[in-house]
Amino acid sequence: MELLQVGSEPVGIRCPYCYEDVMTRAQYKNTTLTHTIAIILGIFFWWLCCCIIPYVVKRWKNVEHYCPNCRRYLGMHSSRATIL
Ligand SMILES: [Zn+2]
Repeated sequence: MELLQVGSEPVGIRCPYCYEDVMTRAQYKNTTLTHTIAIILGIFFWWLCCCIIPYVVKRWKNVEHYCPNCRRYLGMHSSRATIL
C-alpha cells in the first residue's frame, strides 16, 4: 500500500483500508529539527523564552495521519519539506 501524500493539516480522504470517507486524524510529532530550532532560539533569544515556540509551531513538526475510523496509519507529512 502506497502511503498518501498529505499536508500538515487533517485532510478529507477515502480511507484505503476501511473505504470510509473520513477526515484524517493528524498527530504532531516533535523532531530533531524541532529540538534544534528550540536550542538555537534558546541561545540567541533566551530572554524572550522563545525556546518554547518550535514546540507549538506545527510547521516544524512531522505530522502523522491516521484514519479515525479504523485507526490505521495513512501517511506522514515531513517538516523538512516546509522549513524553507
Ligand atoms: Zn480507515
